[in-house]
Amino acid sequence: MSAERQPIGVIGTGYVGLVTAAGFAQLGSDVFCIDIDADKIARLKAGEIPIYEPGLAEMVAANSARMHFSTKIADALARARLLFVAVGTPPTYSGDADLSAVHAVVEAIPAGSARGGEQGHALVMKSTVPAGTGASIKRVLAEQGKHGLCYVSCPEFLKEGSAVKDFMSPDRVVIGDDGDWAGDAVVELYAPLDAPLVRTDIASAEMVKLASNAFLATKISFINEIANVCEETGADVVEVAKGMGLDDRIGHKFLQAGIGFGGSCFPKDVNALKQLAGNSGYHFQLLNAVIEVNELQKRRVISKLLKHLGSLVGVKVCLLGLAFKPNTDDMRDASSLVLSARLQADGAHVRVYDPVAEREARSLIRGVHFATDALDAAQGADAVVLVTEWREFLELDWAQVAARMSGKLVLDGRNALDAHAVAAAGLTYEGIGRGSLTSLSG
Ligand code: NAD
Repeated sequence: MSAERQPIGVIGTGYVGLVTAAGFAQLGSDVFCIDIDADKIARLKAGEIPIYEPGLAEMVAANSARMHFSTKIADALARARLLFVAVGTPPTYSGDADLSAVHAVVEAIPAGSARGGEQGHALVMKSTVPAGTGASIKRVLAEQGKHGLCYVSCPEFLKEGSAVKDFMSPDRVVIGDDGDWAGDAVVELYAPLDAPLVRTDIASAEMVKLASNAFLATKISFINEIANVCEETGADVVEVAKGMGLDDRIGHKFLQAGIGFGGSCFPKDVNALKQLAGNSGYHFQLLNAVIEVNELQKRRVISKLLKHLGSLVGVKVCLLGLAFKPNTDDMRDASSLVLSARLQADGAHVRVYDPVAEREARSLIRGVHFATDALDAAQGADAVVLVTEWREFLELDWAQVAARMSGKLVLDGRNALDAHAVAAAGLTYEGIGRGSLTSLSG
């Protein structure tokens, strides 16, 4: 059997696990997908994809003969040597990463299956874990007599919304290992993707992931701070970012000002790095600011609404978009959660619409009206706030929106709308860091 066609196990079939499994199946491996969520496994066996991720359903369907689903880790152990671990590592109350699911996987591997050498198994960590986790798991493995079980760190960089494409053409593949067969096997598995490879030690690989996310989050908080200064000085942050981004040391990406970052990764990974530094005695001052700026940024929408409307008591506010970004149904740490709660606390009536995330959102957001489409959400609204820049919102007919609203204010929380089109419909446009544009027809 050629190395890139070796069977693999994937433990955890969420956003990362299922994409990884489908991607390796596409490259020719038999993939044994394991999850403790029996309902999820039953749906996957029935050909149903439990998450929304563009292109994923098609890739799973095309490779269904090579994808096997089970709740029993023994099914993967029996057929595959490399076990990719893609379980969740959510934040704890202290801000540290909760590694209980990772430890549960380690526990679930019986000592007898951890034979040494090329016949043995290896854990390949895709989950985002603090630097030092690999070393501590290796100590646990030794204590449990699982001496033959190798450990490889292979952090995942895919982005929800473009995860399939990111798997098939990654910017880089990072592999941290002890120089044993397992590291070589993971390198061979990824070889067909022909991506730049960083092969390093385990702690450095773990740190690449945390440092990358912390840097991207810093870039977002930085441009949001610039946006806030732009509002004070009359500059337009969109023009400023364009001018900055042309410097190839800076680049255009992650220079879009808005109402803050959310999602399952940035907030938790930035916090986890801050905690990791703190736990080892280092005060990571910059990350404190990045986190605080992000929290304040979500709330700036409230002050903008107050500036225009005076009070929010009894005011109808329409939120367009709930997911933390377009092309996903992921609601984890979405800005909409803070916004809808703050608005209701200030007495506003909130109408919301998201083309995909409603099912996820219903269990997290209470007291709001879930509308059937964008126009329904705008019905009777004093203000419309763009929270998630789904394409269908960018293509809205603003004359139709204006006809449904009782007020005139459109707050563009992502600087993604055509300000002139909004104003031409008789509405007042306000973005982030770019002042307002009042009704052109009024
Ligand atoms: P997720 O919550 O969507 O999926 C995790 C899955 O693991 C769930 O289906 C859960 O049932 C399963 N699971 C939990 N404990 C298990 C166990 N003991 N055995 C088997 N299955 C178990 O999480 P996700 O978004 O896919 O993230 C997974 C990891 O990858 C996290 O560490 C995350 O930080 C990291 N990551 C996520 C992204 C992203 O965009 N979502 C990107 C890069 C890295």
